[in-house]
Amino acid sequence: MGKPTGFKEFGRELPKKIEVKERIKHYDEFIGSYSEEQLNAQSARCMNCGIPFCHSGCPLGNVIPEFNDAVYNGEWEEAYRILSSTNNFPEFTGRICPAPCESACVLGINRPAVAIEEIEKHIIEIAFSKGFVKPNKSFIKTGKRVAIIGSGPAGLAAAAQLNKAGHDVTVYERDDHPGGLLRYGIPDFKLDKKIVERRISLMEESGVAFVCNTEIGKDIEAKELVKEYDAVLLAGGSMAPREMPIPGRDLKGIHHAMDFLRQSNKKISGIGFDDEEILATGKDVIVIGAGDTGSDCIGTANRQTAKSIVQFDRNVMAPLERPVYQPWPEVPKLSKLSSSQEEGVERRFTIVAKEFVGDDLGQVTGVKVIDLEWDLEPSGKPIKSKVVEGSERILPAQLVLLALGFANPIYEGMLEQLDVELDSRKNVSATEKDYKTSVDKVFAAGDMRRGQSLVVWAISEGREAAREIDKYLMGYSKLESKDGVDVFADVF
Ligand SMILES: Cc1cc2nc3c(=O)[nH]c(=O)nc-3n(C[C@H](O)[C@H](O)[C@H](O)COP(=O)(O)OP(=O)(O)OC[C@H]3O[C@@H](n4cnc5c(N)ncnc54)[C@H](O)[C@@H]3O)c2cc1C
Ligand code: SF4
Repeated sequence: MGKPTGFKEFGRELPKKIEVKERIKHYDEFIGSYSEEQLNAQSARCMNCGIPFCHSGCPLGNVIPEFNDAVYNGEWEEAYRILSSTNNFPEFTGRICPAPCESACVLGINRPAVAIEEIEKHIIEIAFSKGFVKPNKSFIKTGKRVAIIGSGPAGLAAAAQLNKAGHDVTVYERDDHPGGLLRYGIPDFKLDKKIVERRISLMEESGVAFVCNTEIGKDIEAKELVKEYDAVLLAGGSMAPREMPIPGRDLKGIHHAMDFLRQSNKKISGIGFDDEEILATGKDVIVIGAGDTGSDCIGTANRQTAKSIVQFDRNVMAPLERPVYQPWPEVPKLSKLSSSQEEGVERRFTIVAKEFVGDDLGQVTGVKVIDLEWDLEPSGKPIKSKVVEGSERILPAQLVLLALGFANPIYEGMLEQLDVELDSRKNVSATEKDYKTSVDKVFAAGDMRRGQSLVVWAISEGREAAREIDKYLMGYSKLESKDGVDVFADVF
């Protein structure tokens, strides 16, 4: 432990954010950095618990007390070595992870958790600035060839791991640039695309080949690809959007959130698109859905100078503090303002859209809504809802964004051609034991296997699937050691 009394001496502090009125003028990241002194104090808050519950919260099993200790002692190379032994991309998770490790942190029982996510971001950025992060070329080549379909965090993590193990890895991506939702879902103000490009360049220098603008199942027949390679990993994400089949859905001005976000991300990167531009500028915008995607729509609509933004959530407002029915170390569902919500939105709870209304030209002009009333358990947990009679009314909207999440992976094309077995939720069926699908030589990982989830889970699944592919190809895997830490960690 860096400082035995650190958790008593120092409170949790986060780096300052640029003021809202300034940051909504641009799409750059707006969260600052700790001073050396602050970073030291924040790492000193870690108690190096006998049983570090933070590990259990992290899908990657990040070795958190050890890297906190190295940060406290200013041992940057050691901190980076520890962090990179379990996480290929701390620069992504350090920016956009909801940090389940912090929900599980023991300090969180009666005071604010250790600022693990920020410490992680600082370790990797310091490692880049000090030149510790280098291309990871494999000295021994196995002669085995692996194709990875999809360049989101799952595909990228698997590619990095399999390349380290000496296999020839090619990543196929239907978009014009690699990154999956890191590039064309999550906005620049949360994750600057230069950060994604920096990692892709390193991977290319390490020997991973990227083939973009190539959809497997359309440009290349899926079964042909399987024949050509020794193993194939399906990491195509979960991209079929959830629908809202209510009257008026076909009016102009109602879009899936991803269509709006993808265009905005492309525009900021100076990449063109053929479809008509979806713009929030000067419009009353209604965002339906209260998750990360909804927040990203709000942040983008504010930067496009929308006239007003209203967000619908059909649920009751979540509690501000951990409720009894979500005890530590569970990840509690709290009503935390996201940084995009901070920038300006009217949040409406217990409300649902019944119908979209429009004008004679077929353009949406408003949303007919009703209110819900929820029955709550004595603990405050919502049980069931009923409609509030007479609450029907129309709210104005010239742009409606559906941020309802994704139902399942797209079946037409690649999955259909492979005739791969699906599970009951229509995700590709493969267990966490071996990540093997029903098709010989073919594995699956990330949102395509587990359904829509988080970047940290995608990285974790990519790493696990890589180990299983390595075992399948070689009969054993050096990507595994008994403490779960990768023996090929970057600076070994
Ligand atoms: C708007 C938005 C915001 C989000 N914000 C956060 C957040 O803040 N924090 C967080 O942890 N998670 C967030 N998520 C969730 C997170 O982005 C995903 O869980 C994660 O990216 C899944 O990774 P993946 O590699 O499985 O798939 P994806 O990132 O979806 O990548 C799949 C890739 O496969 C490609 N592909 C698919 N089929 C083919 C094919 N046949 N041929 C070639 N290429 C193909 C796709 O084009 C895509 O690039 C967000 C999601 C969205 C939509
Ligand atoms: S649970 Fe919290 S205090 Fe304990 S070791 Fe992990 S980060 Fe440190």
